Amino acid sequence: MVIPISQWIDNIPRGIASKLNFDGDSMAPFVTDYGGINRAAPPTAIFCPSSAEDIAALLRFAYDSDSPFPVAAWGNGGSTRGQAFAPGGVVINMAALRVGGRRISVSVDGMYVDVGGEQLWISVLEETLRHGLSLRSCVDYLYLTVGGTLSNGGIGGMVFRHGPHVCSVLELDVITGKGEMITCSPELNSDLFYGVLGGLGQLGVITRARIGLRSAPARVRWLRLFYTDFHSFTRDQEFLISLSHPDGFDYIEGQALLNHQKVDDPTFYSNEDTERINRLAAEFDRMYFLEGAVFFDSASEADQKVKGLLKQLSFNPGFAISKDVNHLDFLNRVHIEMTHRQSSMTGDDSCTTCFHPWIHILVPMSRIRDIHDGVLKGILQNTIPKGVILFYPMNKNRWNDIMTGVAPDEEVFYTVESLWTASTEEEWKSFDARNNEILEFCDRQGIKFKKYWPHYTTQADWERHFGLTKWKKFVQLKQRYDPKAVLSPGQQIFKVIEHQATHSVNCFSYDDASCHLEVRLYGPYYAHYEDELTYFDRTSTTAHSASESKSVSQRRHRPRHISGGCASLHEILLLLVVAILPPTLDNLPPPTHSSLSALVEANSRLKRKYNITAISVAIATVMVDIVEHLTIELLEKRRGR
Ligand code: FAD
Repeated sequence: MVIPISQWIDNIPRGIASKLNFDGDSMAPFVTDYGGINRAAPPTAIFCPSSAEDIAALLRFAYDSDSPFPVAAWGNGGSTRGQAFAPGGVVINMAALRVGGRRISVSVDGMYVDVGGEQLWISVLEETLRHGLSLRSCVDYLYLTVGGTLSNGGIGGMVFRHGPHVCSVLELDVITGKGEMITCSPELNSDLFYGVLGGLGQLGVITRARIGLRSAPARVRWLRLFYTDFHSFTRDQEFLISLSHPDGFDYIEGQALLNHQKVDDPTFYSNEDTERINRLAAEFDRMYFLEGAVFFDSASEADQKVKGLLKQLSFNPGFAISKDVNHLDFLNRVHIEMTHRQSSMTGDDSCTTCFHPWIHILVPMSRIRDIHDGVLKGILQNTIPKGVILFYPMNKNRWNDIMTGVAPDEEVFYTVESLWTASTEEEWKSFDARNNEILEFCDRQGIKFKKYWPHYTTQADWERHFGLTKWKKFVQLKQRYDPKAVLSPGQQIFKVIEHQATHSVNCFSYDDASCHLEVRLYGPYYAHYEDELTYFDRTSTTAHSASESKSVSQRRHRPRHISGGCASLHEILLLLVVAILPPTLDNLPPPTHSSLSALVEANSRLKRKYNITAISVAIATVMVDIVEHLTIELLEKRRGR
């Protein structure tokens, strides 16, 4: 929802006024992202902070404003579905923090680096390598920001051994949606720490991350092994990720080549290799290559190790290509290849405006054959890919499940990524149609995949993505750290509704003497339930015999709240729950929550009295949490805390 600028522009604090840019031309880079698919209504302003304190001041201003406006950190715009947009609000151009020099500081003794959330991984690595240190795990593409990556997870070929980027983080500075600056770690404010990692920018802006490091190797032996048999390809990948350090490769990925797709990457293959591989590709509908790397200081040790490993693998004989490179060139390989490709593109290949309708899913190992048969051999059987299809496994025990980011529930799972590039709208739509077919196929087949870098637009899908337990925790954290849903609206998780400033679960008054409680329950969390809210309005109004005759539109503009003059706290809580639970429990799965089941029983009579009809289970369970949250606060208040 767009908050009219007139509602806040006159009150901008002096300290940040000069850093807000309202010039229409400055908006252009922030209305579309790397995906090129979504175009947002422009933000009202671009904010160019010079420090973390500036961001805190902006967020405090947004939060305290009568009409809180949306704010999104814009890392490097690497999103593909508008996740960093802030239509009608303020985009924080994190790159502005890079202007005054690199906020990167390496501790050699501590084996960590303190780095600004706005920094690109390439800069982080350039700095750590100066000290002989490197990242434990690394994304494939280094021109992404630290904050944007940690908000997702950060995966690449070292995840099988070290977990995603988020698992190397030791400490964070976060500015919440209330404008508070909070340092957090596994020991300090741990709920915020784990919540922010993989938290899709919903709980705060990361302004500093402390990231664990390891010694950097001198060189890297980089290999590609070609397979024409899918089973051998995945069996070898799975074998390699089962080996622990110092055995095995230090990096493992893989790609599928469809429909006689040729290789064309002079940054890796010689002309002779290219010809040989493409002759093989001409014979097979599909081919696969396992990409591995061994980090080394001594070439003879690497020779021995690689030789021993290759003996145990089943790639097509003669199709192991390798080269030695320095560590940074290896980690920066995607950018080097992309730059080379762009500079050599001509005619139809080149696109001044490229679209990237990417799809990225994590699939349990037990279903990877189904993906191969249903997707690679089925849905994509006649597709000439424009882009790459990544296909490689990782170990779940290297992920930390306390974090917000999610992964499939199986010991080993694969990342399957179709990274398409389209040069016309027609082309991206056709790729996108196939992406949707893939997702529908997975659903039909009951494949319990998780989207990495997710994009959903309904609350039901978000709940399903996180799973009920994680979702409930996430909603609670949102209530605590961004109760007005100011942050990263482009993720479309918690939508802003009208007059949200007057609706917050944290906003209630309780008169202990008269046992009168007034609760303003509806924050931004339930915007997907607009109709239900309207219904709820009516219900609560009925309960208190107020303006039942008001039109729906009038009701929608009226603050939504319950006001109860009840005899006991217990009755007030019953009233809250009564307003949200369905009249019959037939459609309700068995309550997982003990207090839910108790309340359900106690309230069946009142439900009938107030004639409550449908409301979703999801909202009911979240509401029970709110009731609990209020109960605790009320009890604490009574105890005089
Ligand atoms: P943006 O797109 O600018 O922002 C993404 C989200 O994070 C937005 O919601 C934004 O508001 C929020 N955000 C941005 N900065 C912060 C901050 N400081 N604090 C809190 N929230 C913030 N991912 C991988 O894991 N591995 C890869 O190998 C990989 N390769 C990629 C290659 C390319 C070419 C591209 C375009 C993307 C790739 N990605 C990869 C995906 C990438 O991790 C996400 O696109 C990530 O969000 C991009 O970071 P960004 O800095 O551009 O963030």
